Amino acid sequence: MGDIFDYSVSRAMLETAAPLGGHIDWKSVLRLMPIPNAVSSNPILLSALNSLIDNGRIDGQLALKIYNEPDINAIFSLANMVKVSRFDNQIFFNQNLHVNTTNICVLACRFCAFRKGPRHSEAYELSVEEYLHRIMPLSDRIDEVHSVGGLHPSWTIEHYQKLYSSAKIEFPHIHIKSLTAVEIKHLAKRSNLSISKTLKKLQSAGLDSIPGGGAEILVDNIRDRICRGKESSDEYLEIHRQAHKLGIPTNCTMLFGTVESIEDRITHLELLRELQDETNGFQCFVPYPFLPDYTRLPEAQLATSNEILRTIAISRLMLDNIPHIKAYRMNIGDFVAQMALVAGADDIDGTVGHEEIMHSAGSTTPLDSDVHDLVKLIQDTNQLPVRRNSIYNKFEIIIPKKHEYNSLPVLT
Ligand code: SF4
Repeated sequence: MGDIFDYSVSRAMLETAAPLGGHIDWKSVLRLMPIPNAVSSNPILLSALNSLIDNGRIDGQLALKIYNEPDINAIFSLANMVKVSRFDNQIFFNQNLHVNTTNICVLACRFCAFRKGPRHSEAYELSVEEYLHRIMPLSDRIDEVHSVGGLHPSWTIEHYQKLYSSAKIEFPHIHIKSLTAVEIKHLAKRSNLSISKTLKKLQSAGLDSIPGGGAEILVDNIRDRICRGKESSDEYLEIHRQAHKLGIPTNCTMLFGTVESIEDRITHLELLRELQDETNGFQCFVPYPFLPDYTRLPEAQLATSNEILRTIAISRLMLDNIPHIKAYRMNIGDFVAQMALVAGADDIDGTVGHEEIMHSAGSTTPLDSDVHDLVKLIQDTNQLPVRRNSIYNKFEIIIPKKHEYNSLPVLT
């Protein structure tokens, strides 16, 4: 990189009193904020704002009206207001690495370009040693490894216990975020264990949190068309419920732009919001559109940039109890991700040294981004880059300065 953008780090760690880096009473902040004209002159969005301020919620009917509202600028303005009321001008990121454990999978979801059959020439399964070797070169630059994979036909819980405990011995400072709900279901079945027992054993071995993948759309007739054989909507929610009960934080996701309707997306958001009311275990919601390359879903509607950003904004408005909304740049690309940061998202996926799932399906987002690139991307939106740890309780503000670096020390 050139030397135009140089930064240094405020070493004062911000152990904020507020949970997860934001204002506890964000609705009071929202109440006092000036209302942009685009919002005050739009009856639908003004009603949404008043609902939030009055401790109400954006119900399904109102969400549908917002989805159909042509003034996208007004929707973004309102979503950004809500984001600012919660997090000021902070944008969060972390230094992480994706390591996919295997692409061998017993299922064949129609939207998936990643899975391979066991005899395919490109099928792979990482041994524990290979897994550690993937982490090793970046281990002093990352504080999280994000690992998901296919449903391997023969791996049982012992494999993952060995994987996590070995990683914790080698890299005790690295947070392990791993396994989607369907992987947990598969593993529990193969190991003859309940979901809760499976999670407890994995937690004891070193699993720290669970990513949100596999939610797709939480409407079973849509799941039947795009990922038959995967966990049902209720099972997805139940696995996350069990994790939350054990104190394992999780994320949640939504894959949109396949064959679902807008109403299905709204149902999905309502179900996540209901579970969060009960458990408060979701940290972050990650919406991403379907990418079609090498998949088997020709009838997919796909999603334009307008729709991607609209969906992110509406997620911010509806999910009033899930603190963070992520711009998943591995999927939507850096340019749309940057727009998302002024349309309701407060978090952007990190430095990500390696990623396969979205790139198999056509993502061209660069994988060699360093802190320097990410900080610049955030600063270009006129906001404050804040590095976080995986559970959002340690923060470090990145301040522009006059020297260059490409990585930060780990957050311990
Ligand atoms: S999405 Fe996951 S479960 Fe479905 S085929 Fe791909 S790897 Fe397998």
